[in-house]
Amino acid sequence: MAKNAAMGNGCTVYKKCGGCQLQNMTYEDQLRYKQSKMIGLLGKFGHVNNIIGMENPLHYRCKVQAAFSRDRSGIISGVYQSSSHRIVPIDSCMIEDENADAIIVTIRKLMTSFKMKPFDEVSMKGFLRHVLIRKGYYTGQIMVVMVTGTEEFPNCRSFINALVGRHPEITTIVQNVNGKFTSLVLGEKSIVLYGDGNIEDEILDCTFRISPKSFYQVNPQMTTVLYSKAVEYMGLTGKETVVDTYCGTGTIGIIASKKAKNVIGVELNADAVKDAKWNAKRNNAENTSFYTGDASEFMVDMARAGMRADVVIMDPPRAGSDLRFMRSAVKLNPNKIVYVSCNPETLARDLGYFTKHGYRAKRIQPVDMFPHTNHCECVVQLVRVKER
Ligand code: SAH
Repeated sequence: MAKNAAMGNGCTVYKKCGGCQLQNMTYEDQLRYKQSKMIGLLGKFGHVNNIIGMENPLHYRCKVQAAFSRDRSGIISGVYQSSSHRIVPIDSCMIEDENADAIIVTIRKLMTSFKMKPFDEVSMKGFLRHVLIRKGYYTGQIMVVMVTGTEEFPNCRSFINALVGRHPEITTIVQNVNGKFTSLVLGEKSIVLYGDGNIEDEILDCTFRISPKSFYQVNPQMTTVLYSKAVEYMGLTGKETVVDTYCGTGTIGIIASKKAKNVIGVELNADAVKDAKWNAKRNNAENTSFYTGDASEFMVDMARAGMRADVVIMDPPRAGSDLRFMRSAVKLNPNKIVYVSCNPETLARDLGYFTKHGYRAKRIQPVDMFPHTNHCECVVQLVRVKER
């Protein structure tokens, strides 16, 4: 325990919060634990490389959320106790960006002087409900999203001036209105209060736009590691047609496009596709095109149309992929499939399909994207072993 405290593992609310399930282990033990779990699940498909961990596994989260409420001591801010709506008050967290945590504390203090009320989820009255902070790790740009129960923001200008005065590092502030009875943090309407409403980050020489709602990996340092492995596993020479499925805002595909002939991306979320197209322009990635749609359907259509792909990238959500997707992926007959997974169980299931249908898992690389939690990210290179 003394060693844990020395490492910074001595979080006082870890049981209540529940976010960091592996808090009671040293970081080395966490990595050993994840490695053996990955070997247990994936070892039958091939050699599992040693998990890549973080040099400094603290304050890595560049997306930080706090809920606001009131208790006997006054206004509180913090995280929800796991699977509940009870707030665990915290001022700082060992996995969250320190700048973000400091801004949240400042906002809470300013609320008292501005007589700003926290939103009450029972009476549905009050004003400030959540604060979401996103930071571009490599650019240092910071976005503050104030989620409010009502649109009218009394003393808005002076509140913003006071906040930016105390934290000149803030790049943009957005108000998001969410007066609904919901567990979703963000509502429909966003109003830009300061700056231009977006920030940017840079990964592997490409620049990506982050808006309040867009998906962007929460640990940019390890995203760099993950994406460079993914691109390495694609084995690109400049002649390849690459299909980036479950592409989100196009990050992996746009990075790959610098070394490929062309990249076709598909993603279900229309807003993410909009961001992907914007990101493509921003990076002069003219050899990319992005489509909104279900990845499985898209792959079925590509296979039906007799199209070919040299490389298929897949980065599905936790549920993994489905049979229709995998059947069509195999029909497209790519030399390589690069599977990025955030859930080793569904990854193991899907590797079972691919390895029965002409592919071999040549490289399996776990990456510790989420230190102190039990989540495990992995990138796998599948190579075609049979000519069809
Ligand atoms: N590759 C991206 C995003 C990965 S997250 C990155 O690294 O940033 C997984 C993505 O899959 C999400 O953006 C989600 O919207 C998308 N998705 C979920 N189900 C899908 C489906 N059936 N077809 C296409 N995309 C889907």
